[in-house]
Amino acid sequence: MNKIGFWDAMFSDIGAREREALNEAAHALQMQEIASDNHDRRIEKLLALDRAQGEEIAQLRIVVDVLSSMLIDAKLLDSQIMLDRVSDKRRALEESQRPKTSRSTQDSGHPYRGGSPLREAVPEVTIDCKNCRAQVFARDTQITPIGPVCDRCYWALEMQSTNIDL
Ligand SMILES: [Zn+2]
Repeated sequence: MNKIGFWDAMFSDIGAREREALNEAAHALQMQEIASDNHDRRIEKLLALDRAQGEEIAQLRIVVDVLSSMLIDAKLLDSQIMLDRVSDKRRALEESQRPKTSRSTQDSGHPYRGGSPLREAVPEVTIDCKNCRAQVFARDTQITPIGPVCDRCYWALEMQSTNIDL
């Protein structure tokens, strides 16, 4: 049921210290698995978002295409003037998006005060406790047969199962 029970069954004759070390190693491994699962899910979400945006862009492109060719056909729009204006706007946009190098070198000493976003701390992984539904940091959870639970629920469940086992 719990981790100690599992390791007891596997290595019944080893000392308590080794057992503790193995439990810790198992816990670290499980935490890594959860973190990489969450990571995979986030990447999946981003890919889905990317696909949805790609479809939206394709739809917009069709509308712009139809609209401009209708206007050109009706002689309400000169295609060359349109292309020139589009490239002017595009240049202006690229100009406004260009990073300001002089400012970023000034700020580089303070990564948490407007410095390079690449140097920001990675947000900590959070997990929903399968028992009480509270959102907790992955490092404050334990793996159980019902899934990851918060430390508080883990010990409560542990007590219950110990009482039943005895
Ligand atoms: Zn809980």
